[in-house]
Amino acid sequence: MKYDYLVVGAGFAGSVCAQQLAEAGRRVLLIDKRPHVGGNAYDQRDRHGVLVHPYGPHIFHTNSKRVFEYLSQFTTWRFYEHRVLAVVNGRAYPLPINRTTLNQLYGLELDEAGAAAYLARLREPRDPIRTSEDVVLNSVGRDLCEKFFRGYTKKQWGLDLSELSAGVAARIPTRTNDDDRYFTDAFQFMPADGYTAMFERMLTNNNITVSVSTALAEVRDSVQWRHMIYTGPIDEFFGYRLGRLPYRSLRFEHEHLPDREWYQRVGTVNYPNDHEYTRITEFKHLTGQRCAGTSIVREYPQAEGDPYYPIPRPANEELFRKYRELAEATPGVTFVGRLAEYRYYNMDQVVGAALAVARNLLKQDKQAQS
Ligand code: FAD
Ligand code: UDP
Repeated sequence: MKYDYLVVGAGFAGSVCAQQLAEAGRRVLLIDKRPHVGGNAYDQRDRHGVLVHPYGPHIFHTNSKRVFEYLSQFTTWRFYEHRVLAVVNGRAYPLPINRTTLNQLYGLELDEAGAAAYLARLREPRDPIRTSEDVVLNSVGRDLCEKFFRGYTKKQWGLDLSELSAGVAARIPTRTNDDDRYFTDAFQFMPADGYTAMFERMLTNNNITVSVSTALAEVRDSVQWRHMIYTGPIDEFFGYRLGRLPYRSLRFEHEHLPDREWYQRVGTVNYPNDHEYTRITEFKHLTGQRCAGTSIVREYPQAEGDPYYPIPRPANEELFRKYRELAEATPGVTFVGRLAEYRYYNMDQVVGAALAVARNLLKQDKQAQS
C-alpha cells in the first residue's frame, strides 16, 4: 500500500495534520511508538475509575477562535478556569501574583491602585530584558522572585532563572487586581469526554490508518509514502549528528486517595521551595468528575527520560537553528510540533501550527497538479 502521507507521532501536531489531509482525500498512515494516540495530552481512567492525565495535567486554553472552532468538531466542552496556589513558608497564595497575594503575604490592605504602586516600589527595572530573571525582577522585584520563582525554576529546569530565555517566566503574568485565574484566554474549556475521546473522533476517517506501538524505524523500509510529517524530536530524526538538543523530562507520581473526596482546594498547588516535586494536580477539579475518592499527580523534574520540554536558552536555540537548516534541506519531510520545532508550545499553538502545515501541503499538492 502506498500512502500519500506518513505522519510520525499521534499527538496534536500529527493528529491534526492527519485529519486535515484525510478530509481533503489524501491517504494517511499515522504512527506512534506509544501504545495510544493523543501524545502527551492522552488521558485515561485509572484503576479506580478516575479520569487522569498520565503525562501530566493538560488544561486547554486559547485566544484563537479558529483553533477552538476546529477542535469543537470533535468534542463538546466543559467550562473550566484553572486556579493555582503557591505554597510559601507553609501558606498558600494565589498565583499569578495578584492583589490578594500581596495583601496576604505582607499583611497589607492595598486596593488596586495601591497594589500597582507597591509593585512599582518592589520592582527592579531591567533593560534590556533577556533572561527569565530579568522578567521576574523587572515585574515583582527580588523578594517575590526568591519566594515564588527562583526555587521552582531551579527544580523545573535544573537551571537558574538567569540561564533561561525571557519567554519561560514571561508565561506567568503579574496582576494588581483580584483575578486569580491562571489563564485569561477567551476560551477556557476541557473536552467534555476527555482528550483521548476527542482524538479518536478526529482520527475516525476511512482515509486514516492508525498504527500505535509503531516507531518510524519499523515502517521505514516496509511502507511507501509520498511525503512525511515528523513530530518527534528533531535531533533524533537526524541521528543526533549535530549533537543532542537538551530536553527536560519529568517523573510522574500518581496517587489515588480512596477515602477523600477532595485533596486540595484548587486544580494545582505549586511548591516553589519545598519538596522535590514542583506541583500537585488533582484531576477532578479539571475534569469535573464527581465520584468517591480522588486522584492526584506529583511532578518530579529530571534530566533523563522522555523529552517533555524543550529548554529555552540561547545555546539550545542556536543548535536548533542548525537542525532546522538540515530540515529545510531535507526534501519530502515536514517538521511540526513541540519536539520537532523545539518550541515551548501550548496545545492550541500546536493545533494552529499543524493546521497551517496541512494547508500549505494541500496548496503545494494543488500547484503540483496544475
Ligand atoms: P507530543 O504530544 O509529544 O506528540 C509527539 C508524539 O510523537 C508522541 O506521542 C511520541 O510518542 C511520538 N513519536 C516521537 N518519535 C517517534 C518515532 N520515532 N516514531 C513514532 N512515534 C514517535 N499545553 C497546554 O496547552 N496546556 C497545558 O495545561 C499543558 N500542560 C502540559 C503539562 C506537561 C507536563 C507537559 C509535558 C506539556 C503540557 N502542555 C500543555 C503542552 C502540550 O503537551 C503540548 O503542546 C502538545 O501535547 C504537543 O503536541 P505534539 O504533537 O507536538 O507533541
Ligand atoms: N514558575 C515559577 N513558579 C511557579 C510557577 C511557574 O517560577 O510557581 C516559572 C517556572 O520557570 C516555570 C515557568 O514559570 O517553568 C512556566 O510555568 P508554567 O506553569 O507555564 O509551566 P508548565 O505548565 O508549562 O510546566
